[in-house]
Amino acid sequence: GGEVRFDHVRFGYDPEREILHDVSFTVPAGRTLAIVGPSGAGKSTIARILFRFYDIQSGQVSIDGQNIASVTQASLRAAIGIVPQDMVLFNDTVGYNIGYGREGASQAEIEAAAKAASIHDFILGLPMGYDTRVGERGLKLSGGEKQRVAIARTLLKDPPVLVLDEATSALDSRTENEIQDVLRNIARKRTTLIVAHRLSTVVDADEIIVLDQGRIVERGRHADLVRAD
Ligand code: ADP
Ligand code: ADP
Repeated sequence: GGEVRFDHVRFGYDPEREILHDVSFTVPAGRTLAIVGPSGAGKSTIARILFRFYDIQSGQVSIDGQNIASVTQASLRAAIGIVPQDMVLFNDTVGYNIGYGREGASQAEIEAAAKAASIHDFILGLPMGYDTRVGERGLKLSGGEKQRVAIARTLLKDPPVLVLDEATSALDSRTENEIQDVLRNIARKRTTLIVAHRLSTVVDADEIIVLDQGRIVERGRHADLVRAD
C-alpha cells in the first residue's frame, strides 16, 4: 500500500488568502514524487496537509483511496514517516532517540534500524542502550550523524509513506552525498515524497512537480524538465 493522492486541493492558512490553488497529483504505491520550487511556493504546506496539521478548504487528500479527513490521527501517524531537515534530538541516549515514536521497540530492532541508516561506526560501537547519552555524545554528533539518527527513527516505524522534507539541505556536500545514498536505499521500498529546492537533487524521482506560488507549473521526469528549461 501507500498510494498518495491530492485531488483538486485548495488551501489557505487564512481562508481569505489561498496558498494552494487546485493542486492534484498521484504518487502510486512504492514510487517517488519530488516537489520542487522556490521558497514560499507551498512545498512544506503540502507536507503539512498530508499530516493533517491543517484541514483543506476543498478537494480531497487520500492514502490508499481513503480520505485522510476520515482516518484517526494515530493511523495517519503510523502511515507516514518524516525525515525533516533538522531533527530535534532529545537529551537522552541514541537508542532512546531512535526508539522514540515506537513504544516497546526491542534493543535488537533499534540496532537493526541504526544499521540500516548506516549510523556511524563510533555510534554503533557504543552500547546502543539507554546509557549512551546523546547529551554527552550529542556534542560530538555531526549534522550527518544526527540525520542518520533521524532516518533510523523513521525506519523503525517502517511507514508505507515517507516524506523527506529538505532532508539534506543543511549538510555539506560530501555528507549530503552519503545521506542521499542512505535515503535512496530506504526510499526504494516505499512511497516517497521529496521536498527539495533544486531539480539537480532529485534526478531519479519517478515524477517531479514544479510548484510556483501554489500552482503546479510543470510536471514530468527530470530529463523532460531539463529539456524544457
Ligand atoms: P515552501 O515550503 O515552498 O517554502 P511554504 O509551504 O512554507 O513554502 O509556504 C507557502 C506560503 O504559505 C508562503 O506564502 C508562506 O508565507 C505561507 N505560510 C506558510 N506557513 C504559514 C502559516 N503557518 N501561516 C500563514 N501563512 C503561512
Ligand atoms: P535541495 O538541496 O534541492 O533543497 P534537499 O537536499 O533539501 O534538496 O532535499 C532533497 C533530498 O532528497 C536530497 O537529499 C536528495 O538527495 C534526496 N533524494 C533525491 N532523490 C531521491 C530518491 N529517489 N530517493 C530518496 N531520496 C532522494
